Amino acid sequence: MINKVKGTYDILPNEIHKWHFLENKIREITKKYNYIEMRVPIMEYSELFFRKNEFSDMVQKETYNFKDKADRNITLRPEGTAGIIRSYIENKLYSFNELLKVYYVGQMFRYERPQKGRYRQFMQFGVEVIGNKNALLDADIIKFSSEFITSLGLKNVEIEINSLGDLKSREDYKQALINYLEPFKENLSNDSKARLKNNPLRILDSKDEEDIKIIKNAPNIIDYLSFDSKKYLSKIEEYLKIFKVNYKINNKLVRGLDYYSEIVFEVKANIKNFGAQNVLGGGGRYESLISELNGPKMGAIGFAFGMERLIIALESENLFEEFKNNLDAYVISFGEEEKKYAVGIFEHLRNSSLIVDTDFKGQNFKNQLKDAINKSAKFLIIIGKNELDSNTVTLKNTKSQQQFTLKKQDILKKIKEEMKVHYEDKL
Ligand code: AMP
Repeated sequence: MINKVKGTYDILPNEIHKWHFLENKIREITKKYNYIEMRVPIMEYSELFFRKNEFSDMVQKETYNFKDKADRNITLRPEGTAGIIRSYIENKLYSFNELLKVYYVGQMFRYERPQKGRYRQFMQFGVEVIGNKNALLDADIIKFSSEFITSLGLKNVEIEINSLGDLKSREDYKQALINYLEPFKENLSNDSKARLKNNPLRILDSKDEEDIKIIKNAPNIIDYLSFDSKKYLSKIEEYLKIFKVNYKINNKLVRGLDYYSEIVFEVKANIKNFGAQNVLGGGGRYESLISELNGPKMGAIGFAFGMERLIIALESENLFEEFKNNLDAYVISFGEEEKKYAVGIFEHLRNSSLIVDTDFKGQNFKNQLKDAINKSAKFLIIIGKNELDSNTVTLKNTKSQQQFTLKKQDILKKIKEEMKVHYEDKL
């Protein structure tokens, strides 16, 4: 037996309704907020991710990299933003001079230690708004995430925001943090030691106990924000209040990637038994990525949610309905001529927007009946010798258990009548 690749998972037929639920919610809310879908490749040239200022573990340690047959360096995307920006620049979408509001849903790949809520191939739903820097826009994106979560039915969820300041504030803070941490270097965890030089901000969200003690008295980013960055943050907060978004400021919040500046935010689940991976999604503003990739100098903001974690959250809160087969009718027939006669009825009903199934295994009556019951068919249509000879069908309503003998041409009408009485939701 060949097993699935470590860190991947299968979605079996009895679970797919959960994904459809989530995907439908995504389509609804993106429509409401006027975002258009964009689809870009899963593989990109490695240089797109391995940029000179990108020191995150996600890129440096967790990417799937390989050479193709022509010796090109290829990377399976670990996140969605870089590919969208690459395409934005390559297709000169900036020449339309409009704010581009796009969303994506797709697979990402990271070589991480698999655990509940953390996989090596996983799905993200994300949005990007490219072409502007505007406090109302930033607040609107946070409001979007908040409304998305509420629309799923999730309640025990918190939004945290922080400002990393403009590039200068961020550099000043980085230096202050290095100066503060340097004397504690020997006591830091190995991961944090390694981050001290290139990526000290990430030490702030270390989960190591010793690190947490050291970080407690570290300088606070708020004290390093420039006047403009402070003003920008307070404008965003004003709008968030108008939008009635509940949020908390967390000055230790930094994001995994190195390209963020100004506002960053995360959506966390406070759900019992949820597990350690409780960050459902997050995002922030990035001011330098587009020009770093040789595009025009312009700002953008985006967020991404992990879809598996959303599903785990919805499962933990019992927000999914039981898996249900949605079969309207099952056509049971036996005998060669009867089968041919049944095909016409089967096709007629299927072309009338009913969900219809039949026996494709040549089973006896008893097993066909079992099959129909297992599939929760609302109606059975039974074709035997009597029905064939008299050009009729037998219809059984499995809910009321009533049975009718009908002329072949009356069957659709009767099913619709019965549905109205017994299954109002369907029509
Ligand atoms: P990030 O791009 O790291 O900010 O991730 C955004 C969201 O994607 C996270 O909040 C998670 O919900 C999800 N995510 C990140 N990495 C993984 C992973 N390895 N497996 C499953 N979900 C992930």
